[in-house]
Amino acid sequence: MARIQKLPSDVVNRMAAGEVVVRPCNAIKELLENSLDAGSKSISVSFYSERDDITIQVQDDGKGIAKDDMEIVCERFTTSKLAKFEDLQNMQTFGFRGEALASLSLVSKMTIVTKTADQPLAYQANYQDCKLIGQIKASAGKNGTIITAKELFYNCPSRKKAFIGTDRFKDEVSRVMEMITKYAIQRPDVTFAFRTTSSSSFRTSATGDSKAVISSLLGKQFADNLIEISCESNILRYKISGYISKPISAATSRGIMDKKTKQRFFSLFVNGRSVECPKLKHAIDSSYSSRDIDPGRVDVNVHPTKQSVIFIGMDDVVDELQYKVLEILNECMEDENVSFNS
Ligand code: ADP
Ligand code: MG
Repeated sequence: MARIQKLPSDVVNRMAAGEVVVRPCNAIKELLENSLDAGSKSISVSFYSERDDITIQVQDDGKGIAKDDMEIVCERFTTSKLAKFEDLQNMQTFGFRGEALASLSLVSKMTIVTKTADQPLAYQANYQDCKLIGQIKASAGKNGTIITAKELFYNCPSRKKAFIGTDRFKDEVSRVMEMITKYAIQRPDVTFAFRTTSSSSFRTSATGDSKAVISSLLGKQFADNLIEISCESNILRYKISGYISKPISAATSRGIMDKKTKQRFFSLFVNGRSVECPKLKHAIDSSYSSRDIDPGRVDVNVHPTKQSVIFIGMDDVVDELQYKVLEILNECMEDENVSFNS
């Protein structure tokens, strides 16, 4: 047996980076959440694949990074969002671990251009492997931050291969579009723009109305087919609000999202965080299937607003919500205008 030894820190860092940035979509999500944490009202995401290189760029109009913080911003566990352990009890921001930029700098060649409102100039710096490369230079730029990650996964060829090539890249573009769509619905006060090589680019306008965002990204017919849902309980201490589809397929409606995505669109935010909850999704799916409707033909979108959701007693919450969904679907069935198996 080989003797036990401590792994060198560069090996530890690279293994950890692989967990945060599993795929391009994760990296974009982290950057987008940083932009929201910085109070941005306009966020543009670019995602390109050219000559076997993947480039990600996220630009925002948020509060920017102070020049004096630029030296350490890509080190692991550097954050402006958490100061002491107790702060974890009441986190209002998406980030707090200070790992995203560090991880991205370990798997790409990164550039940050940023300007805070109280600095007359923007500053630009390059990063690799958690370290600042070269000097921090003054540059032209508006208030906010532009983070560019070039040659993503240049040092992990097998991972890179999974996203190179027309079809593979297209799959990842769909995943990114779906992820941005969820945030755009949740934050209709923010403009989200997406640019890519194919014709999938889009831009939302910050009207403050989730339904308008759903209509522009998932199609008018899809949006018109939604029913508002809300329930709350003082005993279980939760409030939930959102939309579910009437049990007819709106998958043929026009909109930027493809038919497959629309058929299974499910978005859940708990206290403003996009999360997965297979139990809740299953409960809602089975409400549809118990109405003799093929779940594959049903569009579901649950969108709790920023009201507080506490997942203590989750089974009871899921039961109540399922009851509510069933109640709504029953009403739909009584409405003779709805044809279930058409
Ligand atoms: P975390 O979000 O967990 O703090 P990150 O590695 O994602 O960790 O970011 C590190 C720090 O960099 C953040 O705490 C924040 O201060 C700053 N930062 C990152 N992105 C932005 C941005 N778009 N605008 C302003 N500050 C940013
Ligand atoms: Mg972050």
